[in-house]
Amino acid sequence: MKRSEYIYQTLERMYPDAHCQLNYGSDFQLAVAVLLSAQTTDVSVNRVTEKLFACYPDAESLAEAPLSHLEELIHELGLFRSKAANIKKMAQQIVQRFDGRLPSDPKELTSLPGIGVKCANVILAEIYHVPAFPVDTHVSRISRRLAIADKDDSLAEAERKLREYFPRERWIRMHHLLIFFGRDRCSARKPQCEDCPFNDFCTERKQQLN
Ligand code: SF4
Repeated sequence: MKRSEYIYQTLERMYPDAHCQLNYGSDFQLAVAVLLSAQTTDVSVNRVTEKLFACYPDAESLAEAPLSHLEELIHELGLFRSKAANIKKMAQQIVQRFDGRLPSDPKELTSLPGIGVKCANVILAEIYHVPAFPVDTHVSRISRRLAIADKDDSLAEAERKLREYFPRERWIRMHHLLIFFGRDRCSARKPQCEDCPFNDFCTERKQQLN
């Protein structure tokens, strides 16, 4: 069996329920949650968005929200001031430029304040099921450990290699599976390597044993 197939089948058996863990009730709410998720956990984002979306559920209401109230609502997140400003500006532009609807074109998405390539990929995959391989901290770390990407690769380079390594129809699924594996077993500081199904070809494991 090809190694890419082995990785896929093993992770699928381990995490059959792997999915996006951000809570949202609409395309717009997902875009806000994704924007807020930079450098923080999905659990923290879900705690904050529960209050935020109760007050401002859509682009129209969030565009009109007082910035100070947005800062107060998302205060527990890192970078809360810039994130508050960005979600408000993003909502305003969605209202002004896209008639209140989140665009589905990658270029239009990344033209919105706070939405970079990774965020756009998450939105495209989750909402529109467009094959995409968003590379977050877990995906990046594991792609290096499993020798798919190299140590010094940029996120863009790691993404290119992951796209080549796994078939296109598995990109979205592999993204979720790698994140679940990273959170559950292959953490940055204390990976559980002893009985890991990938430890015979993992670069991190080789370093530990040398
Ligand atoms: Fe992660 Fe350890 Fe498994 Fe390597 S052997 S993939 S570092 S858990």
